[in-house]
Amino acid sequence: MDRCGEPYRSWAYREGEQSRLLPELADDLKEDNGLLDDEEEQRVEQILRTYPIVSLRDHGFILPRELAQVGAYMRQGFTAYHYQGLLRSGLDAFFDNFMDSLVLLHSEKGWKWLEIVENLGYRYADLAHQRNVVVAGRVKEIVEAKAHGRVAVIPSLESATPIENEEDRVDILYGLGIRCMGLTYNEANALGSGLAEPRDGGLTEFGKRVIRRMNRIGMAVDLAHCGDQTAMDAIEASEVPVVISHTGARSLWNTPRMKPDSVLQACAAKGGVIGIMAAPNTTRVRERPTHDLEAVMSHFQYVVNLVGIDAVALAPDTMFGDHAGLQRLFEGQLAVARAHGGESFEETPWVAELENPARAMRNMIRWLVRAGYRDDDIAKVAGGNVLRVMAEIWG
Ligand SMILES: [Zn+2]
Repeated sequence: MDRCGEPYRSWAYREGEQSRLLPELADDLKEDNGLLDDEEEQRVEQILRTYPIVSLRDHGFILPRELAQVGAYMRQGFTAYHYQGLLRSGLDAFFDNFMDSLVLLHSEKGWKWLEIVENLGYRYADLAHQRNVVVAGRVKEIVEAKAHGRVAVIPSLESATPIENEEDRVDILYGLGIRCMGLTYNEANALGSGLAEPRDGGLTEFGKRVIRRMNRIGMAVDLAHCGDQTAMDAIEASEVPVVISHTGARSLWNTPRMKPDSVLQACAAKGGVIGIMAAPNTTRVRERPTHDLEAVMSHFQYVVNLVGIDAVALAPDTMFGDHAGLQRLFEGQLAVARAHGGESFEETPWVAELENPARAMRNMIRWLVRAGYRDDDIAKVAGGNVLRVMAEIWG
């Protein structure tokens, strides 16, 4: 059920050169497997049609089928987006970081200012050659995209590391379309401590100045990868609500990547929103041997019970291809082992029912229907809450 679509493929305008540009991609779409009966399925479709459906973190990105090629693929800049998959996803909008932590155009470690800016240019060149996925930076633009059967991508960064010690770069990034930015990734930077640091020194003075600039210009402050103290300091420092774009509850799964109740409650009390994620081996629970839809939605239910349904969103954090393999391959850049440490578990190769963006959001909504959530509550967590908070932040 592609909505308005000629099937554009990334870099089709460079036809003839593509074999040189792109490796073979993991672009297959898994078929649905009937979680619901017909009546429930109709309700899901009705919800998708009626309400804006927004993921606080997902990726249009396609990995190479042969994962060993991903380094070379990232280094040559021309990476591919799965336009058809996005059009099947049920999403009206999603926040994408364009794989920023793995942009390795000029270094093996990532996060360099120039390569982050160049990566945005590459992606926008590709996006500009099709008409089904549009770049958005205002709530009005997301609503318009839905009305025209298009999917809106909201450019985001996982970390402010590339701005180094220059708060004016917040303005440049805003000018380049960025509307949501994490303060840190898993490791510390000039703003504060990341969640994988053994000690958290909290928000720095520079971090405070950056938050002030982000508040004034209208860029959402994201605490998903910050350490707990840095997150608490940022919530206090911000003049407007903040987001924790993709996380889960540490009370259910005791790893640094999950947030403690205190941080979740402080974010909600500030008027912010918390996205529940499904990246492999994050939102697990001890009762289940594997990471699957049920485990992810246990985190959803826990956080709804803790902070109320108005402060919760969905943020599957999926991509097309082997996400778990990617985490292993880029351990040096991502510090995943420390982020996911503290619990013993057998690694899951993928998250059942949440394997890629074409399936994830729709299956989360299916789960909510089956669990007996009312349409108006589903509308809130599937997009309404994010749009309410972004209206306040973006102005
Ligand atoms: Zn992330």
